This record gives sequence, structure tokens and C-alpha cells, in this order.
Amino acid sequence: MQHTSKLPNIKTTIFTVMSDLAQKHQAINLSQGFPNFECNSELRELVTKAMADGFNQYAPMPGVFELRNEVSKKIERLYDAYYHPENEITITAGATQAIFTAISTFVYAYDEVIVFKPAFDCYEPAIELSGGNVIPIQLKAPEFDVDWIEVERNVTTKTKMIIINTPHNPTGRIFNEKDLFELQRITDGTNIIVLSDEVYEHIIFDGLKHQSVCKFQGLKSRSIIATSFGKTFHVTGWKIGYCCAPKELMDEFRKVHQFNVFCVHQPSQIAFTEYLKEPKHYLRLNDFYQQKRDLFLDLIGDTPFKFIPSQGTYFQNLDYSEITDENDVDFSIRLVSDYGLASIPLSEFNVDNLDFKTLRFCFAKNDETLKRAAEILNKIK
Ligand code: GLN
Repeated sequence: MQHTSKLPNIKTTIFTVMSDLAQKHQAINLSQGFPNFECNSELRELVTKAMADGFNQYAPMPGVFELRNEVSKKIERLYDAYYHPENEITITAGATQAIFTAISTFVYAYDEVIVFKPAFDCYEPAIELSGGNVIPIQLKAPEFDVDWIEVERNVTTKTKMIIINTPHNPTGRIFNEKDLFELQRITDGTNIIVLSDEVYEHIIFDGLKHQSVCKFQGLKSRSIIATSFGKTFHVTGWKIGYCCAPKELMDEFRKVHQFNVFCVHQPSQIAFTEYLKEPKHYLRLNDFYQQKRDLFLDLIGDTPFKFIPSQGTYFQNLDYSEITDENDVDFSIRLVSDYGLASIPLSEFNVDNLDFKTLRFCFAKNDETLKRAAEILNKIK
């Protein structure tokens, strides 16, 4: 039997590769982004209770209404923007599904989709599967600032979508208000859809503010926002998040969503409905992770690794160019096999695997793990 791969250039995702290597070498795993500590026991008890209470069959296709209602209230409180729980919010199997569904819904063959590189690795395969063309815009280390004039130059009549991600994985940089105004200006008067990956919206440091697209009227009307309960509540394994968009876009999104997953895990939705009623459950996340970032950076302050403190996300990039000329993939493999510390080489997310001699480390770990990781980094000269 013969078949032609629809994704001939795609390998197993680097997150799986590095987590497997970490396991093989019994290494400290700061590669794939997930916490190594437990979620709040209250949340676990709420899910257990929902199961005991019999919420074990299909949820409504767009998600449990009361949860959508809580999400709507949260967005309004935080960003002063309104999404109708009935037809503008859908509960998804994590942000990855929301992103895949959004791209499948709107991207036609030969449509162009602008993606900022380094980019999280789920965007491009989804675009390619829809027959779209990825238009990559490579950002430069260490600032990774967007040159909006360059973006404007890349917009054509074929541009269907621009994907943004703030706070940004893997760089830990955020978009400021000016960036969003520029995006609004560039898309004004076009039919371009903005797909905004905001999964780290509650992990942002040093008093900086998350700039959600929904705060900008000209962007809200053309945007689909993907978010994640997994990131916010330390339950990445539950694979649940939500997506919001104006009704016209959400109506189309749901046509695909219903045949993509139909609906997602009902007991978790019941639990999050209760849990979201208490804003401190997500508002205290900034301080929680800032302490971890600061601990990690304090502990490696005397090493030859160079860094700009992460502005958001639970990732910190370290530039190792003063240590070795090796490319980042080789260095990350040596780090995991010889030193027992797993990280993610940034080149995996760049155009032509551009190598900034930079590795990404996840600091969503207990302090003990961060200290052990820092000890290792201090040994590398
Ligand atoms: N978001 C996680 C990270 O960046 C990985 C998720 C995944 O493995 N797909 O590490």
C-alpha cells in the first residue's frame, strides 16, 4: 500500500522528544511546559464530586452553560469586554484543539496565514493540513520585538489570518498596548481574522498588564481567543480550555467543533464552574510564578548564561553563547545526557531552525527541583 504524507516535514513534537529523553536519562525535566506540583485539592474534590453526582455523560456541545457564564463574567471583569455565554464562548479540549478547530474552520487552500517565529509548534501543521500557506515572520533574539512595518509588508489580498501569542511561548515576551494598536491598524478595513493564543494570560510579571485582543474594539470583532484552564489551574493533563469570538465567527467555529470533539469532559466543566467563582484562584498566579522565576534567576545569576527575565509564561530562555559554539539541539542533548537536565532548543520554533544559542527552561516546578536544576547550570562552564 502506498500513501503520501500530508505532513512530510513534520517529526514528533520536540516536547515529546525532550520529555522522553529526560525520562531515559532520569534527568530533571524543565523541557515540556507542565507543573510538577499538584493542583489545589479543592479543585480535585470538585471534579470527584461532579462524578459522584452523576455528571458522567456528554456535556452540551458548546460546553456547560454555567461555566460559559462564569467565563463571560471573568472576561468582563478583567478586560471590560463582553462575550455572550450562549453563542460567543465554547469550551474546548485545551487551547490546541481550539487553535486546530479555528484554523480548520477558516483557512482555505492557498490562503496565507502570518505566523511570528519562534512559534509554538501546533500552528503550522494545522495551516498546512487546511492547504494554507504559512507566511513566517522571524523575530530576533534577545528582544523578539515585532517590526509592524514588516508585518504590513507581508499582508496581501490572500492573508486570511494572523496568529499572535501573548504572553509568548517560547520567548517569555509580551505584546504591549502599542503592538495591539499596530495590529488593529494593519487589519483595519480587511477581512483578516486574528487568532490570539492567550493561554498564559494569568502568568505575567513585574506589574505588566496582559493585553488581550478583546480590549481593542477593532480587534475583538475579528478575533478568536484561545485559552487554557490547564495552564492556569495546574492541570495540563485535563486538556480543557475555552475559546471566545464574536457570534458570526463562533457559529462557524462550532460547525467544526461539533464534529471535531463534539464536547469535552463534563465533570471538569462542573468543577471549573465553581472554582472560577473565586477570582483569587487565577489572580494570584502572577505572584506565584514570579517568585519561581526570580528564584531560578537568582540561583543562576553567577553563571555564564545570559538572559532577559521572562515577562510572562512559565518559561525562561537562557543564552549559552559564552559557554560553547555548539548548536542548540546538540547542546540540549548534551545537557540532558551528560548533566541530567532537560530543556527545549529554541531553534525548533524558528525559520530554517535559526540558532540563537538559546534554550528554553520551564520553571513551573517546585522550588526543590528549581534548586537542583540551578546547581547543574552552575557546574557548566
Ligand atoms: N505548552 C507546552 C510547552 O510549551 C507543551 C504542550 C505540548 O506538549 N503540546 O511546553
